[in-house]
Amino acid sequence: MLTMKDIIRDGHPTLREKAKEVELPISEEDRNTLKEMREFLINSQDEETANKYGLRSGVGLAAPQINISKRMIAVYLPDDGEGRSYDLMLVNPKIASHSIQEAYLPTGEGCLSVDENIPGLVHRKNRITVKAKDIDGNDVQMRLKGYPAIILQHEIDHLNGVMFYDYIDNDNPLKPHQDAVEV
Ligand SMILES: [Zn+2]
Repeated sequence: MLTMKDIIRDGHPTLREKAKEVELPISEEDRNTLKEMREFLINSQDEETANKYGLRSGVGLAAPQINISKRMIAVYLPDDGEGRSYDLMLVNPKIASHSIQEAYLPTGEGCLSVDENIPGLVHRKNRITVKAKDIDGNDVQMRLKGYPAIILQHEIDHLNGVMFYDYIDNDNPLKPHQDAVEV
């Protein structure tokens, strides 16, 4: 099982690389990687397991964070606050379209690869349409809004070498953009 020692931290060059497309059909090795990433998230959200192995709780993980520079992400969000749950393992995800309207989390964002808390608002798109392959290689398309949309954008950014704090306005870190919605 993956633990925190498998997760590379800020400053590691892999986190700043553009990850490679996953070759299709998806290999057994890549499928296993994705399953391990999902399992990590589930373990990290289970208090007993998280305490036992010293896991920081997370809702999303991208393969570059475990030093595999391939376009794969896992998201595990049992409750988005609006009664929906997300259990995703995606290959070669792309944001096909997005709203003009922005959204942000009032407490800012965190990342399993960043140990310290970095205060500041991270503005993202409030609504996105994501196209990807699932772990079996089937085409999937989903429309997301608010918190799950923010998570997907954070994880897809990892595939492009982008970190959440890149978006923080150092002059006005806590000032929301006009018309941006608080999530
Ligand atoms: Zn992250």
